[in-house]
Amino acid sequence: MILPDYHIHTSYSPDSTMAPEEAVRAAIASGVTDLCFTEHMDLGHHMEMYDQAPDFVGMEETISRLREKYPKINIGKGIEVGYISETAEQTAGVLSGQKFDYVLLSIHCVAGLDCGLPESKRGQDKITAYQRYLETVYASVTDNRLTAYYDCVSHIGYIAKGLHYEDNAFPYELFPELFDQILKEIIKRGKGIEVNTSGIDRGGHVLPHPSIIRRYRELGGRIITIGSDAHKVQSVGAHIKEAVEIIKKAGFKEITVFQKREPRFVSIL
Ligand SMILES: [Zn+2]
Ligand SMILES: [Zn+2]
Repeated sequence: MILPDYHIHTSYSPDSTMAPEEAVRAAIASGVTDLCFTEHMDLGHHMEMYDQAPDFVGMEETISRLREKYPKINIGKGIEVGYISETAEQTAGVLSGQKFDYVLLSIHCVAGLDCGLPESKRGQDKITAYQRYLETVYASVTDNRLTAYYDCVSHIGYIAKGLHYEDNAFPYELFPELFDQILKEIIKRGKGIEVNTSGIDRGGHVLPHPSIIRRYRELGGRIITIGSDAHKVQSVGAHIKEAVEIIKKAGFKEITVFQKREPRFVSIL
């Protein structure tokens, strides 16, 4: 049985100190068969540490070395790209010059502030804040400047991780039309969604919410990946098996891994 963890940050990301080799060892220890490093790149992010590209040369060398040393686990080279409209062209320019196995597109910032931060609440009620977040997700998936450069949309519902509200759940029923528009665009453009397990411990459910995963399937979605979003060793491989069950329950028979940005569908039956 395949057990992929397709969202891992290491010391090549500005907010993690985990050595890549530690991540590989932790993945093997937790039964992960396929791992993909997805370091941050959020050009235009208001926090300077995120507003930069990772060390691509160092990443490449490290991954080559780890692939040789740990041949039993598949190791992918990926990136998590934060969408900021003002820098989309610059982002596309950087991505076009690099080779990846897998690229995640993420919304972290809404109207100039990372929506994980408490100050991003700006006195808004839940419905207003969540709607603005989703409108930004819609803008990202319909932005033709980036369409060629990513594979899956990461953690839809990320704002719920900010725990800004007493009930921070982010199910389909809150915005059925907007979710449908987003999911249809993703499917139409041949992209996929990621099921991000970090929301289980911080937010109460996987991101996106299981109801949205079901709806994605109903609409014909096929490409679906799983990631822990680990920034530290203890989180590598966390809740991946639970995510496989949630995906199965939503009607999927396969999950997806990537090599050189080509999807491969693997049975989970
Ligand atoms: Zn993210
Ligand atoms: Zn991440």
